[in-house]
Amino acid sequence: MFNLILFGPPGSGKGTQSEKLIAKYELKHLSTGDLLRSEIANQTPLGLEAKSFMDKGQLVPDEVVIGMISSALDGHPEAKGFLFDGFPRTEAQAEALDKLLKLKKTAIHLMLALDVSEEELVKRLLGRGKTSGRSDDTNEEVIRARIVEYHKKTSPVADYYAKFDKVKHIKGEGTIDEIFDALCEQVDMKKK
Ligand code: ADP
Repeated sequence: MFNLILFGPPGSGKGTQSEKLIAKYELKHLSTGDLLRSEIANQTPLGLEAKSFMDKGQLVPDEVVIGMISSALDGHPEAKGFLFDGFPRTEAQAEALDKLLKLKKTAIHLMLALDVSEEELVKRLLGRGKTSGRSDDTNEEVIRARIVEYHKKTSPVADYYAKFDKVKHIKGEGTIDEIFDALCEQVDMKKK
């Protein structure tokens, strides 16, 4: 198995690069943002709870997303590996993920962190908001709140994996293909 975390602030290109990475390396894509939006679309109790946090740009409580990831892992026993996108977003989530993977006799092999400047992030998110239909991308205040949450709660997750020497930083500005090539170079080195 090969398990990868694609890490970075909102708007850093995780969704775009995830699609390309899962196709090339035959990984199962687990995006907590996508899973939560699908719960909201289906108007489940979990979706209703999550929406109140997402609309404000806040993180959804750990137990909610950890439960969702746990079922998603159990739901794909045949997977050759997973690409985690938008998860883990807190240290508690990282510790929970390590435990879940250990039960499956596997682990995180690599975290790829996309670095993008804050002004570029806001510009990209507002641009995406015009077409994506995502309400959290149309309001600059909500975007800034998500970036604050990222610095406060999520960026320490990179330090957590750095302790185990699992993190590689990649410049997230440039063309989609340039960034993809830089990501693949790191995956190929790790898989050898
Ligand atoms: P982005 O990376 O652009 O913020 P996502 O689709 O990953 O977009 O997430 C959208 C929202 O969903 C986040 O602002 C947050 O409220 C919620 N969310 C997604 N993943 C998590 C997570 N792992 N923990 C807590 N909240 C999450």
